[in-house]
Amino acid sequence: MRAVQIERVGVLRSVERVQPRPGPGQVLVRVSACGICRTDLHLLDGDVEIPHTPIIPGHQIVGTVTEVGEPATDEPSLEPGMRVGIPWLGWTCGGCRYCLSGRENLCDLARFTGRDIDGGFAELTLADQRYCFALPEGHSDLELAPLLCAGLIGYRALGMTGESERLGLFGFGSSAHIVAQVARFQGRRVFAFTRPGDESTQAFALSLGAEWAGGSETTPPEELDAAIVFAPAGELVPAALRMLAKGGVVVCAGIHMSDIPSFPYDILWGERVVRSVANLTRQDAREFLELAPRVPVRTDVHSYTLEETAVALEDLRAGRFEGSAVIDLGTRT
Ligand SMILES: [Zn+2]
Ligand SMILES: [Zn+2]
Repeated sequence: MRAVQIERVGVLRSVERVQPRPGPGQVLVRVSACGICRTDLHLLDGDVEIPHTPIIPGHQIVGTVTEVGEPATDEPSLEPGMRVGIPWLGWTCGGCRYCLSGRENLCDLARFTGRDIDGGFAELTLADQRYCFALPEGHSDLELAPLLCAGLIGYRALGMTGESERLGLFGFGSSAHIVAQVARFQGRRVFAFTRPGDESTQAFALSLGAEWAGGSETTPPEELDAAIVFAPAGELVPAALRMLAKGGVVVCAGIHMSDIPSFPYDILWGERVVRSVANLTRQDAREFLELAPRVPVRTDVHSYTLEETAVALEDLRAGRFEGSAVIDLGTRT
């Protein structure tokens, strides 16, 4: 099968790999679309460690089950022909204090798709069927792929803002363009922050229901009740804190961020909170994939071929597109 793998930090290569076979509890999935995530860039750049190379990245996978391994449990198994989504969370131990308290996203032994387990920048991929999800009908594979990380992590981050009414989104990329739609559906007001002077992204945010958009250096017309920082820039954390009303929260939604500069206690005082969001639980996935078609979430997708994966990653790095980039493997007919 054709695949794109990270051979070592900084080196991405198109390769031919032996077609994998599903083991007990696994399914073999023919990939039709796999979204690009900023985490893929962090993995390639070495900002997020890869335990073993080479690894095939890609953790926003949509595809069709082609082969089912021996059942590992007595749960009903997936069947060939089913369309499934495969997210970042690929396996958890089920027995640690995190797993046993509904926080499998924090499992010490968790294995992640496209970091620990070969992912979706390939014609075929293996997945533990307990971590595969049914997808809403009526949307193409390409449109659905960004829901599997940008949407899911964004949804989890949004949940951590509680009942916030005035929501700031810092970094208006793949995740924020989905979260803005969900937030509006929930009756929140959205304020979008982009790189200074990025007027096209500000216009994009306004088109998705943000009531205000501006550069991250500008002051919004009102205080915010919550902010989600998607951009991997630590200086945005104190910048967002300064915009918060008392009791507000800044949620850092990325897996990697540059150092956060020191800031005066004054801007945290008043029960303001800074926190991160890590990974996802399967419950998050079930909830979000049920909610998304009711919003309904529309993703703005820019497609690339498998051979163009490196181009897509560099386009993401340079901010050359709005919305989401997806690798189109073109196999669904
Ligand atoms: Zn665990
Ligand atoms: Zn991701």
